[in-house]
Amino acid sequence: TTFADLGLPQSILSAVTQSGYTEPTTVQREAIPAVLADEDLLVSSQTGSGKTAAFALPLLARLANPRPDPRTRGARVLVLTPTRELAQQVEKAFRTYGSGLRRLKTVTLVGGMPFGPQRRDLAGYVDVIVATPGRLKDHLNQRTLTLDAVETLVLDEADRMLDMGFIDDIREIVATTPANRQTLLFSATLEGVVGQLARSITRNARRIEV
Ligand code: AMP
Repeated sequence: TTFADLGLPQSILSAVTQSGYTEPTTVQREAIPAVLADEDLLVSSQTGSGKTAAFALPLLARLANPRPDPRTRGARVLVLTPTRELAQQVEKAFRTYGSGLRRLKTVTLVGGMPFGPQRRDLAGYVDVIVATPGRLKDHLNQRTLTLDAVETLVLDEADRMLDMGFIDDIREIVATTPANRQTLLFSATLEGVVGQLARSITRNARRIEV
C-alpha cells in the first residue's frame, strides 16, 4: 500500500514525500481512508506508531476543500492534547504536512503562555486549533473563540488527559462543538473511563487497534 492508494490528494502526497515517508504505518493504512470518509474513530495506538500523521494527513486533505459554510471564520479542526509539548508537536506536524496547501492557519492554545497573543491569533480566520483542555476552556469562558465551525474534533492521548483530571473540561468543550461533527479519539487504552467517554462522544465509531 502507498499513501496515494489511501486516497490522499497530490498536495498532501508531496509533503509526505518531502518528510521522507515511503510507506504508511499500520495505523495510517487503517485510519486515513476512514477519516477521509468522515467516519468516527476509536484508535488504540502508542506514541511512535505514526498516529499524528494518521489524523493530520486526511484532515489536511479535507481542509483543502472550501468551508461548508463560507460565512464562518472559526477553526474547522480542533485537536485536544494532554500537554503543551504534545500540542506544539501536533501543530508542527500540521504545518509540515500542510505545506502544500495555499494558506493554512494553525493556532496553539496552551497554558503557561500569555493570553494576549493567543487572543490575537483567534481574532481572524482559523483552520486548526491545537489546545490543552484547561486553556481552551479559559478561552471559551472569556468568549475569545467559538467552536461552531468545528467539523472534526480529535482527542489525542485521551487516556492521559483523563489521568490529568481533564474530564469535566473535555465534556464542556465537546458540548460546545456541533453535534454533527466527526470525532476521532486516540488512546493507549480504550477500556474503563476512557471507553465510556469515547462511546458518549462518538457515533458508529470504527475501532482500530494496532
Ligand atoms: P507519532 O506516533 O505520531 O508520534 O510518530 C512517530 C514518528 O514517526 C514521527 O517522528 C513521525 O515523523 C514518524 N512517521 C510517521 N509516519 C511515518 C511513516 N509512514 N514512515 C516513516 N516515519 C513516519
